[in-house]
Amino acid sequence: MRRSIVWFRNDLRLHDNEALTDALGHNDEVIPLYIIDPRTYLGKTCYGFRKTGPYRLKFYMESLHSLRQSLIAAGSNLVVREGYPEEIIPQLAKELGTSFIYCNRERTHEEVLVQDNLEKALWSIGQEIRYYRGKMLYHTADLPFPVTHCPDNFTAFRKEVEKFVAIRKPFCTPESITAISDEIDYGEIPDYTSFDLEKEEAIDSSSSFFHGGEAEALRELKYYLWDTQNLSQYKETRNGLLGRDYSSKFSAHLSKGTLSPKRVYDEIKKYESEVEQNKSTYWLIFELLWRDFFRFMAKKHGNKIFLSSGTKDKEAPKLYQNKTLFDKWVQGRTGIPFIDANMRELNATGFMSNRGRQNVASFLVKDMKIDWLWGAEYFESMLVDYDPCSNYGNWNYVAGVGSDPREDRYFNISLQAKKYDPEGKYMRHWLPELKDAPLEFLFNPFKVDPGDYNHDQIYPNPCVDIKHW
Ligand SMILES: Cc1cc2nc3c(=O)[nH]c(=O)nc-3n(C[C@H](O)[C@H](O)[C@H](O)COP(=O)(O)OP(=O)(O)OC[C@H]3O[C@@H](n4cnc5c(N)ncnc54)[C@H](O)[C@@H]3O)c2cc1C
Repeated sequence: MRRSIVWFRNDLRLHDNEALTDALGHNDEVIPLYIIDPRTYLGKTCYGFRKTGPYRLKFYMESLHSLRQSLIAAGSNLVVREGYPEEIIPQLAKELGTSFIYCNRERTHEEVLVQDNLEKALWSIGQEIRYYRGKMLYHTADLPFPVTHCPDNFTAFRKEVEKFVAIRKPFCTPESITAISDEIDYGEIPDYTSFDLEKEEAIDSSSSFFHGGEAEALRELKYYLWDTQNLSQYKETRNGLLGRDYSSKFSAHLSKGTLSPKRVYDEIKKYESEVEQNKSTYWLIFELLWRDFFRFMAKKHGNKIFLSSGTKDKEAPKLYQNKTLFDKWVQGRTGIPFIDANMRELNATGFMSNRGRQNVASFLVKDMKIDWLWGAEYFESMLVDYDPCSNYGNWNYVAGVGSDPREDRYFNISLQAKKYDPEGKYMRHWLPELKDAPLEFLFNPFKVDPGDYNHDQIYPNPCVDIKHW
């Protein structure tokens, strides 16, 4: 009898899972395994933030429960262990007499270290890893250029791939999976609150749109495309700030792999043939291309995405490590309502719109002149949809050390607030203390006569003075 382990990583789904499909095709038994690695779940970033903040912890545990349910429904179960994969997997492989380890290959530093160490440990017991890819629309092998020649400019990348490279069809969901024949302890999925959360990290889950798991992901896909047909207006609504419907909210599912990008693509194509094809239906695919682009950048440039000089390798702009100022940004108390509203949304839900992310990142780097790595690490900790390539790639871009072809991009926060929150609804929603403040104050707190609105008592004075707004 041939049996192998399928090690689930950031691919917590049964649909379009090439590693699982291939393992099922070549083995009599597969052992579905997930390992809760304390370096990820309990570790700290360089500047001391919890690596996986409470929103993501909750999302991940929900995703594991959902995966276990799907596996049970198919006839199997999920084995859950806590510890280091490079120690646990070889041990389990020996105990269960398996042949191979099937898993998705990761591309960023910490994940690569784990898989390399695991590979070495497996060689010593005569076993091997079989790697698969499931995170992207495009496979590296299908690109018309070697990844080392991938254009550093998004538009050039897009033009070289979208017309010439076909996106592969997603794999089907397996209907049945043979149960493991040995007596085995499947292991408990811990409650997210058991991960040493501090009191102030307690979350109110009612304010979040994000619930983990493949079943939720497929429900979200159905909701955005078929139930509401929001997809048909995506290009017009995608810069929205408030509510569920202005954008897809697929990001957390794509990031943890509870949703496959190829499945999204396939479903959009079906929608285009059955409902309508317009600029919006294309635009969601366009945004998924950004996601692929940042993964290719990480593959091409390796660790540079995590360094202050970024993928451009250019001398980093002069930025400071001013903790007092940075804390105001973190807490949403900079005195700039558009920035504070976005940061408070992040702190209360683990999510922020793309428009918000661009503005708070730009404000931190270009106006507060704070080290962009601090901002990126705070996002890493807090975002429910954190993905190393998308997060650091976008921060590189905003900080001017990444793939933005423009050298001088600058967000005038006052104009951005006027354009994207013209009635101030979003700002007043997240800053209830400003519910009676004049609209002009929300756009530009520098220009409102303090006599009209003495904001210092209920809302902080601006932490930086920006004359040109
Ligand atoms: C500073 C900064 C940090 C970011 N960090 C992350 C991150 O850690 N994880 C993450 O998934 N996205 C990140 N983004 C990209 C983007 O803000 C989110 O993907 C998006 O807001 C998620 O909401 P949505 O799923 O409703 O997006 P939609 O607008 O519905 O877009 C659909 C999908 O396209 C992809 N996408 C859209 N915009 C981008 C983009 N700029 N870069 C990469 N992929 C994109 C996402 O997978 C998204 O789910 C970041 C952007 C900035 C400016």
